Amino acid sequence: MYDVIIIGGGIIGSSVAWQLARRKKKVLVIERKDVCSGSAGATDGVVGYHTKKPGLQLDLAVQSIEMFRTLNRDLETNVEYGLEAGGMQPVEDKDQWDMLASMAAEQRRSGVDIRMITAEEACSIEPNLNPDIYGALWSPTGGKVNPLAMTFGFARAAKRLGAVYLTETEVTHILTEGGRAVGVNTSAGEFRADCIVDAAGAWAGKVAALAGIDLPIRPRKGQLLITEPIGPFLRATVQCAMYNVIKFRPETIKDPAVLKLGSSLSIEQQESGGLIIGGTREFADFEEENTFEAVETMVKRAVRFFPALKDVSIIRCFSGFRPYTPDGLSMMGEVRTLPGFYMAAGHEGDGIALSPITGRLMAELITDGKTSYDITPFSPNRFLKGGIL
Ligand SMILES: Cc1cc2nc3c(=O)[nH]c(=O)nc-3n(C[C@H](O)[C@H](O)[C@H](O)COP(=O)(O)OP(=O)(O)OC[C@H]3O[C@@H](n4cnc5c(N)ncnc54)[C@H](O)[C@@H]3O)c2cc1C
Repeated sequence: MYDVIIIGGGIIGSSVAWQLARRKKKVLVIERKDVCSGSAGATDGVVGYHTKKPGLQLDLAVQSIEMFRTLNRDLETNVEYGLEAGGMQPVEDKDQWDMLASMAAEQRRSGVDIRMITAEEACSIEPNLNPDIYGALWSPTGGKVNPLAMTFGFARAAKRLGAVYLTETEVTHILTEGGRAVGVNTSAGEFRADCIVDAAGAWAGKVAALAGIDLPIRPRKGQLLITEPIGPFLRATVQCAMYNVIKFRPETIKDPAVLKLGSSLSIEQQESGGLIIGGTREFADFEEENTFEAVETMVKRAVRFFPALKDVSIIRCFSGFRPYTPDGLSMMGEVRTLPGFYMAAGHEGDGIALSPITGRLMAELITDGKTSYDITPFSPNRFLKGGIL
């Protein structure tokens, strides 16, 4: 018998597991494949403010990013990279400038330093950037991490404190008694606990459906390319302006091809020297394949902003599934219609950055019945009949 069963061994499930184990809870993490086999293992590592939806999601990110400062020490691991690498979004014309400037003004209400800078200033920060741009958005305090190192770091830290990981085991049913969640059925048998946390990422809607709960989490596919390692090339994480437009204001995009692929550019350099190039946001169900159309678009965007990349080879490509919610906010909290069943999912393209705070707040909620930061707007109940009560 466990105190808590967590479904999903990604970055969110492992962060929740670690925080619960710190609070002396007996935790079982059940993972269908292996730790980090979901989107936590197929992602960029942007930990920036400027890529967060203004308002509630950004306020939450501010709390979370603060926790990164002590993560290496807390997890006794190296999550890699700079916490103040900076985040930049080059813009190509006045329309994009106006849109990003207005978003940045909204984002600044959360107390973060995000500003518009000239093309010359942008190139002095990133000398390999094409000077043929209109200007750029600049967020000097955003950072980047290695998501794999971080997920395994959470999992190892949780295990050191007694959490048990059961991998290669699929949850197939949620057990209920007297209208309460009391355990799970799996491919390896039945397990019981006082409460169940659904941290199954893009699959969290399917897992909730096992308990008869209808929650609108959908996979939003992102394709990624890795280049051969090169010398120091890029310090900041860079996304083109279309990245934020597609993420926050897709209704302003008129070109159906751009909208279908959600095509923009994101690019960052890993500590190993390889560059991660991404920038699609597609609704393609759980279709994993890389498509020529997406690869070509991303490569062209990368060379448009960083011409020197035309001579650099791509060595592999893959895709991941962002856990999308219709209102762009994550889901954290207990499901009203099934006491004992909690959601910790739906972080879309922000799950790496939001993992530390999600773990802490979920552990507070489960252990104390209240949280140090108001998570009411993130309640999964907002999608149930009757809304947040
Ligand atoms: C291309 C791309 C780029 C991204 N860039 C960034 C970024 O720069 N910064 C950022 O903060 N975020 C980014 N994200 C988002 C981030 O990767 C996700 O939000 C985050 O990884 C979600 O973590 P998770 O633990 O919820 O899900 P996952 O890592 O997917 O973990 C869920 C786990 O649940 C398991 N599972 C599913 N069903 C079952 C079942 N029935 N039984 C047992 N186990 C089950 C799966 O196998 C999986 O391992 C990006 C995502 C993508 C795809």
